[in-house]
Amino acid sequence: MKTAILGGGLAGLTLARLLHERGEEVVVLEAEPQYGGLCRSHTDKGFTFDTGGSHIIFSRDTEVLAFMRRMIEGNEQRNNRNTKIFYRQRFVKYPFENGLCDLPEDDRFACIHGFVRNLIAVEKGTVAAPENFREWIYHTFGAGIAECYMVPYNEKIWKYPTDKMSLHWVDGRIPRPPVEDILRSAIGIETEGYTHQSVFSYPLDGGIEALVRAIAQPVEPFIRTGFRVTSVRRDGNRWLISNGKETVEAGRIISTIPVQHLLPCLEGVPAQVTMACRALVYNALICVNIGVRGTLPPVSWMYIPDKELGKTNRISFPSHFSKHAAPEGSSSILAEITHQPGDSTAAMTDAELIAEVTGMLEEMGICTMDRIIHTSVRRQPFAYVVYDLAYQQNIAIVKEFCSSRGIPLVGRFAQFEYLNMDGVIRSVFDFVAQDYTS
Ligand SMILES: Cc1cc2nc3c(=O)[nH]c(=O)nc-3n(C[C@H](O)[C@H](O)[C@H](O)COP(=O)(O)OP(=O)(O)OC[C@H]3O[C@@H](n4cnc5c(N)ncnc54)[C@H](O)[C@@H]3O)c2cc1C
Repeated sequence: MKTAILGGGLAGLTLARLLHERGEEVVVLEAEPQYGGLCRSHTDKGFTFDTGGSHIIFSRDTEVLAFMRRMIEGNEQRNNRNTKIFYRQRFVKYPFENGLCDLPEDDRFACIHGFVRNLIAVEKGTVAAPENFREWIYHTFGAGIAECYMVPYNEKIWKYPTDKMSLHWVDGRIPRPPVEDILRSAIGIETEGYTHQSVFSYPLDGGIEALVRAIAQPVEPFIRTGFRVTSVRRDGNRWLISNGKETVEAGRIISTIPVQHLLPCLEGVPAQVTMACRALVYNALICVNIGVRGTLPPVSWMYIPDKELGKTNRISFPSHFSKHAAPEGSSSILAEITHQPGDSTAAMTDAELIAEVTGMLEEMGICTMDRIIHTSVRRQPFAYVVYDLAYQQNIAIVKEFCSSRGIPLVGRFAQFEYLNMDGVIRSVFDFVAQDYTS
């Protein structure tokens, strides 16, 4: 029984590898000419950039982390995280609550005051339990940290009002600061937050794509690139999967492609399911890649909450992740801009985007125009799942329908969950384990 895996990103390739290791016949059907999805990378003039935004390898899941590191064995650079938030012309240590000492005095006071006032109110039970993401931010950090950083940054990356976002996903993903850490950081004692990420790995050569290439290596002959699935039909006990020109037959299918791409491939989808799928919110991403002569500040990546500085929400420094990511004597910057599909940012030309980002870098004092020796722009239609208030209801309808059709969903936009690479690989491990026992 051949298994057809729709989509050749990290989820599809890891699934193919594990099923192949179990002796199953697999075929991976990938729309793009190059497999890897969000984990692709490209090298221009000696500069390597991750095509789907800057990626690093880290995880709390020790089994998954060991798997990822084994895949890039011999091609790994270990790095200590040095991450900042650019706030009022300063570099503030990340997470923000661990960098209070770096703030101007008035903001530092507002943050500690807000945190303490809120803590007392929570202890006394005089504040209601949060019902949306914005309320959760105020409830967890107090008004100072909320207004200086958490709300502006989150609204910049999600492109969505925080009071219209659900809070079911925040625990475990956004670090909750211990009181001691807030007080220590405010008086200048070094504290580390988000410690499972404080040391991270990155491939020395090939960017993050080296990870998916290593995973895909044993199943390379079974990957069909340039095969955009447009129809999926069941015929008795076989599946017929077509790209409009050619049909592939399989005993079963597993989908790792976005649900927004899968549903239009199916026949007889009820209107309620189509509506629920259309209501799911997600962001696209534009990456502006910059090659620079000389060195850059020794920062891993930097969050930019300030709207006045333009649309970029984060910049990273790939040449600090791997010493081979830029030619000798040069460095690199990857600026990420999230946006809603089809909005005014999507309509900007590459030249306009490059002008905005290079202007911002100059204003931030990071790099002057005369040092820039390379620029490029890459766009990703699916980058971030946005958890709006109706998310849980809508995704349940979509998942139930796919399950009723016998189509398992595995991966970030197939499950439509905010999964990092480790979460995707965990989903694959769990799917294969369950598949084996059932
Ligand atoms: C900006 C950004 C930064 C990130 N940083 C990190 C990080 O530092 N660390 C980390 O662990 N994770 C990170 N992630 C998350 C990581 O990229 C994802 O978890 C992972 O790549 C998702 O893999 P996937 O296979 O589920 O989805 P995708 O990579 O989206 O793969 C889906 C594949 O399906 C294909 N496809 C779509 N439609 C069709 C069709 N009709 N027919 C055939 N094929 C189709 C697509 O071309 C694609 O190749 C980041 C993500 C983003 C956006």
